[in-house]
Amino acid sequence: MNFENTLSFAKALDEADQLRHFRSQFLFPNHNGKDYIYLCGNSLGLQPKAAGEVLKKQLDNWANFAVEGWFDGEEPWMFYHKALKKLMAPIVGASPAEVCPMNTLTINLHLLMVSFYQPKGKRFKIIMEGGAFPSDQYAIESQVKFHGFDLKEAIIEVFPREGEEILRTEDIVSQIKENAGEIALVLFGGINYYTGQWYDMKTITKAGHEIGAIVGWDLAHAAGNVPVKLHDWGVDFACWCSYKYQNSGPGGISGIFVHEKHFGNTDLNRFAGWWGYQESKRFKMEKGFIAEGGADGWQVSCTQVMPMALYHASLQIFEQAGFIEPLRIKSITLTQYLEFIINEVNKSLGVGQYKIITPKNQEDRGAQLSIIAQHHGKRIFDGLMANHILGDWREPDVIRLSAVPLYNSYEDVYLTGQALLKVSKDILQKTQSI
Ligand SMILES: *Cc1c(COP(=O)(O)O)cnc(C)c1O
Repeated sequence: MNFENTLSFAKALDEADQLRHFRSQFLFPNHNGKDYIYLCGNSLGLQPKAAGEVLKKQLDNWANFAVEGWFDGEEPWMFYHKALKKLMAPIVGASPAEVCPMNTLTINLHLLMVSFYQPKGKRFKIIMEGGAFPSDQYAIESQVKFHGFDLKEAIIEVFPREGEEILRTEDIVSQIKENAGEIALVLFGGINYYTGQWYDMKTITKAGHEIGAIVGWDLAHAAGNVPVKLHDWGVDFACWCSYKYQNSGPGGISGIFVHEKHFGNTDLNRFAGWWGYQESKRFKMEKGFIAEGGADGWQVSCTQVMPMALYHASLQIFEQAGFIEPLRIKSITLTQYLEFIINEVNKSLGVGQYKIITPKNQEDRGAQLSIIAQHHGKRIFDGLMANHILGDWREPDVIRLSAVPLYNSYEDVYLTGQALLKVSKDILQKTQSI
């Protein structure tokens, strides 16, 4: 599409956008009576207006039924997660049995590594992306230590080539092959939080399986953002948080995926708890753990009803929108428009002030653009905030902006460009950088 840097052009795209009415289902942060333009859905998604109602409904259930709420009322808590599983499955390309809402993300990463990082003999290494989200690094390092291995020996980090920002799939695949026989687990983030690169999950999964390794994915930045096909790609396990692109609220409940090929495997280690016990016999309170079938068997503690209710409210919006495919179509164009607008700002400034490190190819990215600000990035970022534009800042010099198809408009993107130009000019002129 030939984009134009004008308000009328942006408005015309919004007019033609069939998903535009979903915006009215969300609450935007507001200061001094003015809404922010919110481009931070990669960090914390906006609150669905329905969130208050669903919470109120569960509070009423609690008030009216108290302990009987587990089995009584419209949506007995004992089975409430099943309603969510149905809606989570299409978001990650799984069957409902393969997914389950539970805990929080890093906890689930640990629980799944207990099951799926099973080093044996020479095969004890984990291969991951260099510069992974810190929580993932800490989780992986501590698991490796827990098994008694040396971190340097047991963890292989794949980094971009000298002078490059983005990992090449061929480099990931070749490092997997080079270490065949020693790699127990391939564990990457689906989309890197810093660069916004969406890894070629299908190819990497296949490469991991070809050398006999287990392959897992942290989909924190991918779930609800890009289409993934966990089942069809044969991914062994995955987990994600739901508070980024899936708008479930701060500290929202996480989701896990376990491929059905592992359902019958009783050799897997598990850190068990009563909620993972066979559902039909859970309240017999018997000795000797027997796992419930499917992903549900990885549950530990009793289900978190309030966080689930919030996730449910958001998942119902995804359902109304047709899940991922329609959102993805808008997302691709919206992100291309954001990229175009940033480049327009660069042109107007006449210096290469902004460098987008996120891949250009739509197959290699989701909604997020990571933009290196060459000069005075933090001041410019603060200037954007003062102009009611909320993105996020990552040290040392990256501004991350995500235009989210459920609630962002082309007009948001246009206005962001206008504000970015004004703020950049002010600051760069003042500091004589231009
Ligand atoms: C956001 C994010 C996390 C956060 O983990 P929590 O356990 O939810 O705090 C972890 N890993 C990645 C890759 C993330 O993007």
